[in-house]
Amino acid sequence: MQALVLERKGELAIRDIDLPRDVGPNDVRIAIHTVGVCGSDVHYYTHGAIGSFVVRDPMVLGHEAAGTVTEIGAEVKTLKVGDRVCMEPGVPNMASRASKLGIYNVDPDVRFWATPPIHGVLTAEVVHPAAFTYKLPDNVSFAEGAMIEPFAVGMQAASRAGIAPGDVAVVIGCGPIGIMTAIAALAGGCSRVIISDLSAPKLAIAGQYAGITSVNITEASLAETVADATDGWGADIVFEASGSPRAYQGIFDLLRPGGTLVLVGLPVEPVAFDIPAAIFKEAHIETVFRYANNFDRAVNLIASGKVDLKPLITDTYAFADSIAAFERAAKGLAEDVKLQIRLGD
Ligand code: ZN
Repeated sequence: MQALVLERKGELAIRDIDLPRDVGPNDVRIAIHTVGVCGSDVHYYTHGAIGSFVVRDPMVLGHEAAGTVTEIGAEVKTLKVGDRVCMEPGVPNMASRASKLGIYNVDPDVRFWATPPIHGVLTAEVVHPAAFTYKLPDNVSFAEGAMIEPFAVGMQAASRAGIAPGDVAVVIGCGPIGIMTAIAALAGGCSRVIISDLSAPKLAIAGQYAGITSVNITEASLAETVADATDGWGADIVFEASGSPRAYQGIFDLLRPGGTLVLVGLPVEPVAFDIPAAIFKEAHIETVFRYANNFDRAVNLIASGKVDLKPLITDTYAFADSIAAFERAAKGLAEDVKLQIRLGD
């Protein structure tokens, strides 16, 4: 089967590769239609590793996917052939202690697409457990279906924040996850979200959404903007979605006493964390690793019309041009939010 294969750091190929094809009793076979290019896919391409996950053998990339069910296992009752679906890319061991606690995203044995040594889905079809495959309503497109995976991270962040209706939130970082966190925070009840970044084009895209205020930190002070918006009290919630160590300088100045800091962005360098500042405000600190139990609700929000992720899709490439899509994503262009690759019609 043809696939986009990361041969090794910095080397991509579209070529035939043997992938598992047997449909077990609780599995479905899915013809892949659309796959989003994720920062993690790009990082494996450019760096060959993320933390302790190192690409040692050729690996198919892609984990943000939507497609059509073409075959169902003997025990599958929830899906049928022809259903349009999106897929949750991490499959835990359902008998694990983490799964039994409902925190299957942190199951140490989770098998996650395009995380070594597990192949991703930039290929014609995949076999996946029905329990991690979600039907898309007719009014949700494949392109939107392939946005559910990154949106689920924003949903997880909003859930972890424990939003109360009317809360004011800050999101540091205006990449796809930052913007989707802001959108999820509004859907979760925030009255207002202030988002900051250095990239004017990305801030302009975020600022199109009602309820989101963009702050370009090359031109204005985020701390002053937050103080003005909250009469000096501070934001109820601060989401750190940049992963930049610099974002942590003065981060507790943004937060109200007793507020919640949610760590979403994954820093790749050490971070200086001001523990006294956190203690003096008795700040709550939450962390986000992927998501658990969010796909259904993410699909519902898009189907309801309350959330529109289409403005975040910057460009779409044909599968034959997927190497070009990755080369572009690796450049990190200021105006690019999400690139997608289409395999289906
Ligand atoms: Zn992703």
